[in-house]
Amino acid sequence: MIVVRARVLGFCAGVRRAVDMARSAALAEPDRPVFTLGPLVHNARAVASLAEHGVKVLGEDSLDARLAGSVLVIRSHGARAETAERAKELGATVLDATCPRVVASQRRAADFAARGWSVVLVGDKGHGEMVAVASRAPGAAVISTAAEAEALELAGPIGVIAQTTIKKEEYEAILEVLSRRHAVVEAADSICPATLERQGALGELLRRVEAVVVVGGKDSANTGRLYRSAVEAGLPAWHVEGAAELPPEAFRFERVGLTAGASTPDEVVDEVAEALARGKA
Ligand code: SF4
Repeated sequence: MIVVRARVLGFCAGVRRAVDMARSAALAEPDRPVFTLGPLVHNARAVASLAEHGVKVLGEDSLDARLAGSVLVIRSHGARAETAERAKELGATVLDATCPRVVASQRRAADFAARGWSVVLVGDKGHGEMVAVASRAPGAAVISTAAEAEALELAGPIGVIAQTTIKKEEYEAILEVLSRRHAVVEAADSICPATLERQGALGELLRRVEAVVVVGGKDSANTGRLYRSAVEAGLPAWHVEGAAELPPEAFRFERVGLTAGASTPDEVVDEVAEALARGKA
């Protein structure tokens, strides 16, 4: 069997940087505790691999005496404005792996708030990135649908920022409502191309293969979207978290495409590619 990899697949730049920072910190000082503020990646295998290096996950609401003398890695989603200071007060060295794109959104929120504007964030209310950006603009509204945009009662100019991973069409529909209802609306161009690049590369791949394997966590939204795109294109497709989940049918084709979500580590992609190439899970 020939395994054809998508031109772009797996870890995005922001997640790769955060994982590298945590791993390097753990390797540099093996006796020093290394914590990450929430899981660095939505992928159980990646979190387990970091745990093998001694990297432990800590909730943003559970900063306490355990941080004394430790290293705390802020993940690519970012953290609330006050979190880094609190961690330093507790004796941690803070490694900030917030993705530069998320930092840009945080700065934009702070800038809108400093101008006295109403701030609207478009994304998932409980998502770490949104929580972190909202902390830079107290009182910011977080919405995810056009109906919520219709129901918003805001005064004066409005600054709008999208979650980096939101679908462009969804953002545009919400912006349309806000622009119709408010005289001054300034929208940040904050959507990250990483998800679109993986979708585009999958589109190219679909034309060259007979079936597709999508690798990534079952709770990873962007991996799920890749899988649905492959199914909608009418090709046999499977979403697996690792080689052990490859079904026997996947080995019956001559050319199988391989793609992976932005939170899937390289070693898991390689494991699946090797299993397909040798003809068994
Ligand atoms: S998806 Fe984009 S914004 Fe989010 S961490 Fe990756 S590179 Fe950064």
